[in-house]
Amino acid sequence: MFKSAAFAASAADTALGPITIDRRNPTPDDVQIDILYCGVCHSDLHMARNEWGITVFPVVPGHEIIGRVSRVGSRVTRFKQGDLVGVGCMVDSCRTCSACKEGREQHCEVGNTLTYGAPDKHISGAFTYGGYSKAVTVDQHFVLKVSEKINPAAAAPLLCAGITTWSPLRHWKVGPGRKVGIVGLGGLGHMGVKFAHALGAKVVLFTTSKSKAEDGKRLGADEVVISTDPQQMKAHIRSLDFILDCVSAQHDINAYLFLLKRDGTLCLVGAPDKPLAVSPFGLLSGRHSLSGSGIGGIPETQEMLDFCAEHNIAADVEIIPMKDINTAYERMLKSDVKYRFSIDMATL
Ligand code: NAP
Ligand code: ZN
Ligand code: ZN
Repeated sequence: MFKSAAFAASAADTALGPITIDRRNPTPDDVQIDILYCGVCHSDLHMARNEWGITVFPVVPGHEIIGRVSRVGSRVTRFKQGDLVGVGCMVDSCRTCSACKEGREQHCEVGNTLTYGAPDKHISGAFTYGGYSKAVTVDQHFVLKVSEKINPAAAAPLLCAGITTWSPLRHWKVGPGRKVGIVGLGGLGHMGVKFAHALGAKVVLFTTSKSKAEDGKRLGADEVVISTDPQQMKAHIRSLDFILDCVSAQHDINAYLFLLKRDGTLCLVGAPDKPLAVSPFGLLSGRHSLSGSGIGGIPETQEMLDFCAEHNIAADVEIIPMKDINTAYERMLKSDVKYRFSIDMATL
């Protein structure tokens, strides 16, 4: 065991502050990583404030981790000291169920181990701690290779915001000839716009923030709709093949169901803390499907990272020092992030 500096929330209503945590020394299959940057996902805020009702305190959030390998276990062959690597939302799973065998560890039938807030398989009675920390030790299966071509601060958000948008866009075969809506230009949404554009689809961004319209186009949207304007919404009625909803708070999803073409799908990746109301007419009027998608498996995360290196794609980040995390959360609640905070761990 060794000690690592970290930042934690000790209760739902307290600010995050410094803490010292235990990390395990690498077992034969482990990779020890010195963390360079960690992205700030809205899920970190939901968890730190216990908005989903599942948080175990103290919680060290952070599942968009980029770092360099500092030590490897004896059975590790794919990584060596100094390699640039990433860790996303999971650090373990059963590896034997049908989902794991297919590389869909996010749907492990036994239950995967999330990067933070999950019972730690290696330290009895402990819970996993995330990337708002100096170092982490992770089983090699859950460590991703990251190209040196990508700026590490901007690569960090790919490990959650990237894969969470990439996976459904690929699953629903977004590409040339398809008109795709992305709802909400935050961390997830801006990656959704970049990926849908890079995959060749016609992209319509739906935002509540007029100030983001120009950025929406720069990031790859063909059209930007201010979703609070009924006239602008009406112009897209029955026209979209697929909509990816990346909104973090309560909103009216029915307004979007009516924008789907016949047999179109709306997929939720946003995870507001309260249920969303669905009008049956929004679904039955065009045999529409309402779906959801959670993060992505390890092989498709590697596929996404390789695609990003090849196509020169990364997140648009604002780099912050660790001490500014509480202000960053407040700004995230005001939709004032362009478009992901990335914490510089040298400041911890
Ligand atoms: P974020 O950066 O805070 O972006 C959320 C965006 O939603 C905002 O920028 C804003 O976009 C829009 N929005 C916020 N409040 C709204 C409201 N009241 N009405 C309409 N639009 C609103 O958050 P994020 O990190 O991208 O995460 C988004 C959600 O996805 C969170 O709930 C998060 O927990 C969840 N998530 C899910 C998964 C998964 O596996 N499914 C993975 C990661 C995150 P505009 O300013 O453009 O309107
Ligand atoms: Zn996340
Ligand atoms: Zn499994």
